[in-house]
Formats: sequence, structure tokens, C-alpha cells
Amino acid sequence: MVSGETYNERSKGKDVRTSNIVAAKALANAIRTSLGPRGMDKLMQLEDGSVLISNDGATILSKMNVLHPAAKMLVELSQAQDVQAGDGTTTVVVLAGALLDSASVLLRKGLHPSAVAQYFLQAAETACDSLKKVARLVVADNREQLLHAVETCLSSKVVSQNTDLLAPIAVDSVLSLLANNNRTVDLRDIRLVEQVGGTVDDTELIRGLVLTKGSAKSGGPKRMEQAKIALIQYCLSAPKTDMDNQVVVSDYAAMDRILREERKYLLEQCKQIKKTGCNVLLIQKSILRDAYNELSLHFLAKMGILVVTDIERSDVDFICRTLHCQPIAHPDQLDANKLGHAELVEDVYMEGGNNTVVQFTGIANAGSTVTVLLRGSNDLVLAEASRSLHDAQCVVRCLVQEPALMAGGGAAESQAAMALREHARTLSGQDAYCLTAFADALEVIPYTLAENAGQNAIQTVTELRAQQAKGVVGAGIHVKTAQVEDMFAQNVVQPLMVTTSAIRLATETVAMILKIDDLIVVR
Ligand code: ADP
Repeated sequence: MVSGETYNERSKGKDVRTSNIVAAKALANAIRTSLGPRGMDKLMQLEDGSVLISNDGATILSKMNVLHPAAKMLVELSQAQDVQAGDGTTTVVVLAGALLDSASVLLRKGLHPSAVAQYFLQAAETACDSLKKVARLVVADNREQLLHAVETCLSSKVVSQNTDLLAPIAVDSVLSLLANNNRTVDLRDIRLVEQVGGTVDDTELIRGLVLTKGSAKSGGPKRMEQAKIALIQYCLSAPKTDMDNQVVVSDYAAMDRILREERKYLLEQCKQIKKTGCNVLLIQKSILRDAYNELSLHFLAKMGILVVTDIERSDVDFICRTLHCQPIAHPDQLDANKLGHAELVEDVYMEGGNNTVVQFTGIANAGSTVTVLLRGSNDLVLAEASRSLHDAQCVVRCLVQEPALMAGGGAAESQAAMALREHARTLSGQDAYCLTAFADALEVIPYTLAENAGQNAIQTVTELRAQQAKGVVGAGIHVKTAQVEDMFAQNVVQPLMVTTSAIRLATETVAMILKIDDLIVVR
């Protein structure tokens, strides 16, 4: 027996399993209504009073103040799916909820939780294998096919009405990385710059760079053609001592001398920069002391140099890779070879947002990075558009990693359920029983899609089963036409990886929950 000093609260065995299942199922039910193109969105008021609208499972769950440890596992499950596949974050949680439902039926019938967990893990592998056999291969840079998958992903987002614009942007941004990067996609190479003003339809893909702070307002140029760009990381201000000390100036002449010296020093620094041929200067933000002072900005403006100040340290790497320049940490390292080149650098005013950004375009050998300038009428729309675009880019990334497509609208899940039931017929006893229970749980996706679309779920899923049994692999519920159709023909497709990852991750979490028989709260 463990002493009460170590553990304050403890519950054991059946009780804890039931409580875990109930809590996790409650969470899954809460986001179930947001699945699919006809799913509802969630409006959330956060602790700090701010508001968020989203349809993305991972986002909704991450903002919910979930307390129960088992429910927290579902929050992490949806985040794991987000990392693994980027999409299918609602699906994975709804699936886990249904698997828990099926598991509790099996437990009530007297099966051992470990056995159920084991059978479920096997069933998940069988389901994924069966999907692999029927998935359609894609050529990873076939723009048309990628577009269809991205359109399916965006069709259930809050910004679905902007799919025609956002889908090509998502596909082209990832494809342009591929052209340079030899088949690996790192989404950190795509910079999403969010700017309030205009509408989502004003969003642009920029094969260059956008900095969110406009050029310095010191009277210098706001537009530069054939730009030679330097990025400095040292301070353009009078040198300061490292130690804290005081200089007492007792007469005007001495003060005048100090100011003159300071002026001379700054002018010399600016001249050195100009000598390299630089006409656009980026100055890194410094937390230790001001990276520039007004006088240096004045000199640079007089020399016809466009200056952008306060470049974040975290952005330096991205900027250097984009502009092909090297950061300059000390005046001695100033060198024309470290400068980047762009055909045009200019301030662009964001209509309606009262902000100016600096755009760099016409970069030689562009493509190792791209920027998407996202526009939206307010922060809420903008944040959701940004999340949706990220999901869409993840879909393209999935298809590059594993170029296989499955039909959407519940087709993949019901196809897997059918394969499992067929397999179950060859087995007997517990094996067959658990496999069938797993297959029933998979059908929660077509059921929910139909329910959320206001259809008669039982009738629709029966029709779906019938079509699948006839051999229509892509048969799914097209919620827009309210018909069971061949989703491949309707171009409602999704990456195979999204579905298989959702099935595997949901099963792993459910197996974990089932195997817990002790809840210990250590305070
Ligand atoms: P997730 O966050 O899991 O991606 P979504 O709310 O985006 O959840 O919904 C995805 C589900 O919607 C997938 O199962 C997908 O097949 C389905 N879906 C997308 N478009 C359609 C459509 N036109 N008809 C039916 N189902 C669709």
C-alpha cells in the first residue's frame, strides 16, 4: 500500500477506466459537430478576453481548458496528428471517441482491456494496409491532383469561400520549394505574413520577401530599384562603455566636442556602408542598446539608402536565405560580397490596415523560400485563414512524402471498415468480435459527415455500404449534393497519409487509455 503522504488522491481499476472513457468521449463529442464541410465552427472566448473562431480540431482543443488527464490525452492526440499530417485533427479525435465507445461495449461483455487494446492495434494495421491497396498514386508535382486534395481540405474551413484563391497559393508555395529543395518540404521556408485590411481575396504569393515594418521615416527613399541589400547586426550609434559610469561635462565647449566626435563617428560608419554599394540597409533589433539613432538614420537618408530597422533576430536566417546575403556583425566585416540583390524593394501601404510593409521582389535564384502575404478584414478572419492555409500546405507536404490519394466523404473509413469486416469473417471468437467493433467505430466518420449535413445518417451510411460492396472504392457521401457518389470522380480526395495517420494515432491513444488502471494525483 502506498502511503498517503506520497499520493493525495487515488482511484483504481474499473472506476478509473470508466471515468477516463467518459471524459475522453465527452471531449470527442464536443468537437464532433465541426467535422466536414457542413460542420459548425466554434466561437471561443479565451481567458484573456480575446475571441477566436475556428473549425480546426487541434486549435479548438488546444484553447479549451481541459482538466481531466484522459481528456488531455485527446488534446495531445490532435496535436500529434497536426504534427504528423497537418490535417485530420478533428477526424482523429472523433475517431478516438468512437473507438472508446466500441471498447466500452467490449469491456462490458467481459473482455480484458489489454486484449481489447491489442486487438485494436492489430485492426488499425489491417485497416491501413487495406487502404494502401486501394489508394490512387499521384505524381508528386502533378499540380492538378494536388489542387483537388487541397480544395477538399479547404472546403471544410471557415474560409472555404476563398478556396479558389487559397488552394493554388498553397500548392504553388510548396511546389516552388520543391523545385529547389530536392523533394523535401520544410514549411518553415514559407513565411506567412498576416496583414489586417482588404479581404482574404487580396492574399498574394510573393516570390520574395515581405517585412512587416515599413522603411524608416527619416526622409530617405521608399522605393529602390536594383537594390543591393546589407543586413547589419551592430549598432549604428555612438559607442558606449560596457561598464556603468558617468562622464561629467562642465562646460559647453566640451559638450560641443563630444557631439562633434559622435557625429563624425556615425558619419564614418554610414560612409563605410555606402562604400560597399549598399542602397538598402536592414538593421537588426538590439536588446542591449539602441541599434541606431536618429542621426545615423538622417545620414543614411541623405546618402539615398532605404533603411528598415528592428529586424528580429529570429528572422535573420530566413532573410539571409531569401535574399542570399550574409549578416554583418561588425563594421570591419563590411564587404560587397555579403550583400543581397533584389530588382525592387518598396514600401507598400496595406489598404484598410493602416500599416506599411516592405516588399522585396525580383530576387535572382529565388525559390528556396517564399512568402504569402495574407490579408483579411480583421484579426479573427486572418488568424483562421492562416491556420487553414497552413493545413492546406501540410496536405501538399503529405502528398510529397507519400504520393497516394484516398477518396474523401467517409469513403476511406467505410472502405477500411468493409475490409475489416471481410477479414473478421475468416476469424472466430474474440478476434472477430474486436475487429467488427473496430470497423463499426471507423464508420463514425461517414455517420458524422451525414449528420452534420442534416441528412438521414442511417439511410445514407447504408447506401454507402451498398455502393462499397458493389466495388465502388471511392464511394463516399458528397455533402454538397447530399448523394453517395464516387468521390474520386468528384475530385473530393485527401492524402492517404492523413487517414492512416488518424487511424493509427487514435488507436494508439485509445489503447493507452484502456491500459490505465490507476489514476494518481500527486500534489
Ligand atoms: P479535419 O480537421 O479532421 O480535417 P474537417 O472538418 O476538415 O476535419 O473535415 C474533414 C472531413 O470532411 C474529411 O473526412 C473529408 O473527407 C470530408 N469532406 C471534405 N469535403 C467533403 C465533401 N465535399 N463531401 C463530403 N465530405 C467531405
